[in-house]
Amino acid sequence: MQSAKSNTATPFCKVCFKPLKGYDTNDLFEDFPICSKCFQAMEPKTITTKIVGIKATSFFVYNGKVRDMLYQCKGCADYEMAEVFLSRYKSWLRFKYRDWFLVPAPSFAEKNEKRGFNQVEEIFRAIDRPYLLAIKKTDNVKQADLNYVQRQKIGEHLAWVDGISVHGKKILFVDDLMTTGATAKACVKLLLEHGASKVEILTMARTTNPKERKESKISFTQKLLQIVDKLKKRKENS
Ligand SMILES: [Zn+2]
Repeated sequence: MQSAKSNTATPFCKVCFKPLKGYDTNDLFEDFPICSKCFQAMEPKTITTKIVGIKATSFFVYNGKVRDMLYQCKGCADYEMAEVFLSRYKSWLRFKYRDWFLVPAPSFAEKNEKRGFNQVEEIFRAIDRPYLLAIKKTDNVKQADLNYVQRQKIGEHLAWVDGISVHGKKILFVDDLMTTGATAKACVKLLLEHGASKVEILTMARTTNPKERKESKISFTQKLLQIVDKLKKRKENS
């Protein structure tokens, strides 16, 4: 089944450029710009935790594939790549957050002007809700350059943008990646101080402890083995 939009050309995966038609189960769904193989390589795993009492959801594990895709998105100002990340979640997100406003993770304004492209805003455009650019960075500090202790003080590099009001509004704070959660924490604090009626955090990916990932894989295999054992026993008993 092809969408009306794509009936002039064979749709292709925007990550590996292989044609989607007849390639995998993707054909069953319209408007997915990523094939199942690339999607699985992104390690889709919806994780929900709480940060300072606020619900924080993410959709992917930050692995090499996600890192490369983000790099391409940022480095090449690739709008098509930005579309890919949340493509499989967008219907659900649009419904769930239909009366919310989005506040993107702050970036250093001068940097965006130079690039003309903000990857966080482009990625979360999938939700189709208005942006309130409420928080800005006061200097060009990069998370990656900070150690754990410095990251906890990220709030010192953030400021509220004059004239933006979130009072009484439901605010979804969005970011491409969550590592320590320090930025999200500092921003949530600012949003609540400025009267947001409700705040949630949504990040495309989050880093997980490699040890935990290994363990979770083992436990999944163990689970499968347990099921196989059960089935065997049932067969023996019947
Ligand atoms: Zn692909």
